[in-house]
Amino acid sequence: MKKQGFETRVLHTSYEREDVYGALAMPVYNTAAYEFETAEAMEAAFCGRTADHAYSRITNPTVQHFENCIRSVTGALGVTALNSGMAAISNALITVAYAGSNVVTSSHLFGNTYSFLKNTLAAFGVECRCCDLTNMDEVRAQVDEHTCALFLEVITNPQLEVADLKKLAAIAHEKGVPLIADTTVVPFHVFQADKFGVDIEIVSSTKYISGGATSIGGLIVDYGSFDWSRSQKLAGMSVILVRRLLLRN
Ligand SMILES: *Cc1c(COP(=O)(O)O)cnc(C)c1O
Repeated sequence: MKKQGFETRVLHTSYEREDVYGALAMPVYNTAAYEFETAEAMEAAFCGRTADHAYSRITNPTVQHFENCIRSVTGALGVTALNSGMAAISNALITVAYAGSNVVTSSHLFGNTYSFLKNTLAAFGVECRCCDLTNMDEVRAQVDEHTCALFLEVITNPQLEVADLKKLAAIAHEKGVPLIADTTVVPFHVFQADKFGVDIEIVSSTKYISGGATSIGGLIVDYGSFDWSRSQKLAGMSVILVRRLLLRN
């Protein structure tokens, strides 16, 4: 069969269970909790031994369908959808950061992201190292053994500075650091972040994906390219993502 195109994958990512009413579009499951046949099945779900939905803060069928749709169009290993782009950025960075670590980035960032790095993360003992990301020597000098991520926007909002991703990815990977990139300003069908060495892609789905700021949302897209075992602290991130994946597939 001919490989499905981008539009086909967006429109025809199937959902897991048939809707009782035969709805063609994925229903919005407006529920916090779920019913189980037995106490044992409930225990297994809450302990993460089965993929059943247990509580909507963790997973919800509608959100999971959105994640599957993004996995289908990006070819990513795992996708986690969150309440906003800022939630995606803060969750991704909090997962890899620890007191005493640093994030190498630029001051050319979306305003709230800059403030999150400079003020919020700093209050937890995570240093924000802003440098000129167009100067590779400077970037190389800033990355050290406590760097938990090289974080950037592929085209910065609002300065429109374009990152030389292949060069930056090479520096990050040579130093054993994941490249985390906010790609909100370039939609998936024109830009494939993994082809440029991005390990974790962050997207505010509020923008292109919602059709122009009609609903707030964010995505963490993991391409499975980073070897998390190189860092004990960072290994925590992969364990969470991989477990979710194993349970779902
Ligand atoms: C809008 C935006 C965000 C924040 O996303 P929200 O969904 O509004 O939280 C982050 N990064 C960039 C580049 C953005 O344009």
